[in-house]
Amino acid sequence: MPAAALPPEVLAKYEPVIGLEVHVQLLTATKAFCGCANRFGSTPNTNICPVCLGLPGALPVLNAKAVEFAALASLAIHCEVRERSIFARKNYFYPDLPKGYQISQFDKPIAEHGWIEVPTADGTTKRIGITRLHMEEDAGKSLHDGFADSATRTYLDLNRCGTPLAEIVSEPDIRTPEEAFEYLTRLKEILLYTGVSDCNMEEGSLRCDANVSVRLKGAERFGTKVEVKNVNSFRFVHAALEYEIERQIEVIESGGRVTQESRLWNSNEGRTYSMRSKEQAHDYRYFPEPDLPPLIVSAGFLAETKKKLPELPEARRARMIAEYALNTQDAATLTASRGFADRFEVAARASRNPRRVANVLLSEVGGRLKALGLEQEHSPVSMAGIVQAADLLDEGKISSKQLKQLFDVCFEKGEDFSAVYDRERPEQISDPSALEALIDEVVAANPRQVEQYRAGKKTIAGFFVGQVMRATNGQANPALLNELVAKKLEG
Ligand SMILES: [Zn+2]
Repeated sequence: MPAAALPPEVLAKYEPVIGLEVHVQLLTATKAFCGCANRFGSTPNTNICPVCLGLPGALPVLNAKAVEFAALASLAIHCEVRERSIFARKNYFYPDLPKGYQISQFDKPIAEHGWIEVPTADGTTKRIGITRLHMEEDAGKSLHDGFADSATRTYLDLNRCGTPLAEIVSEPDIRTPEEAFEYLTRLKEILLYTGVSDCNMEEGSLRCDANVSVRLKGAERFGTKVEVKNVNSFRFVHAALEYEIERQIEVIESGGRVTQESRLWNSNEGRTYSMRSKEQAHDYRYFPEPDLPPLIVSAGFLAETKKKLPELPEARRARMIAEYALNTQDAATLTASRGFADRFEVAARASRNPRRVANVLLSEVGGRLKALGLEQEHSPVSMAGIVQAADLLDEGKISSKQLKQLFDVCFEKGEDFSAVYDRERPEQISDPSALEALIDEVVAANPRQVEQYRAGKKTIAGFFVGQVMRATNGQANPALLNELVAKKLEG
């Protein structure tokens, strides 16, 4: 059934309703209810014990760090943390769940009623509600390939059993695949800032399920929803939602009914497949976990946790724009990770002109790294080198052309800026009469631009500066040159 066959006017009659469920593994040293290491990539079935295997008589003990991380994540997404929450057993059989149940939270989760804001296409922001954040444990993994007998057998790795998870459930407030993408991007950024998870999607530490239905625009009631399970990149979530929205509209338009079910996204084929009819909450026979007391988050614990909440990305962007006169795009790039923003701010504060540091860091260094396919940590130029270069530029001791040449050498030889600068010491023409002679030539050769300047177009001075700079191979003292060009044009 090829979606995309529907004409736009048919698609436009409908409104998608999307809610997202995000599972994040918490970065604790040990598992949620036992002392086993919580580590990705160990030899299969080495980080296990009677508790996480659910052997008879073994008793779970809650990891306080997991509670702290869950509370920290809850606060970062504006949730109210419940003083008393209840762990519940969610019963189901799966080969990689030897206990036959998962310890989760049901009607009394640790946190509820939050929100995050996402940017929209028209330049405003939209608030997406968060229904709840609850704590639970992860299951093991079924390994279907990569072993000698994989053609006929499935292998089990139970290392992941008992890994602490936070599940974050959004309200059905999302209306487009783009909003879903933005929501996930913002949520991941916030979680990374708090440090509660590495959010590594390839390793499965962040996983996403999407609930999606469609209804005629203006309709009150939601349509029948379909759950798209375990889509392993935000780009695929976007694609899966686009596909699923069109598929559902096509079903309705051809007189059919959407079935409530779980579907799997196949990224190779670009479509979803029916997996099973969607289970309901009562299928899991939830009941309070008899081996764990109610979880009490005291006011004191919560106050201590609040102190650990870092400045979050959105607030940090706004502050950095105000404090360093950055533009929105640069602020977004500089705050993409907390570590990068920290390094920039140390450099910005040590410099004469933070905005220039941002320009050098993003354009000169960032541009070269990108061209080479390298990450920031592989840059031969240190933050101290960037500050030095920005300051020299700011003081007019080197021209921007010379700066580019020096950075070219840094990247060619893998040397830091200070070493290259000390050796090369680019020459500067600071003799006014030498520069004046060149300015006279350029002015004489470009009478039209002179007229434009005198008619009020003052920015054309940059044209003359550029021409002289080119004539000197970038060696003119920029501050002096600017001054002399202005004087000449005014005179
Ligand atoms: Zn264990």
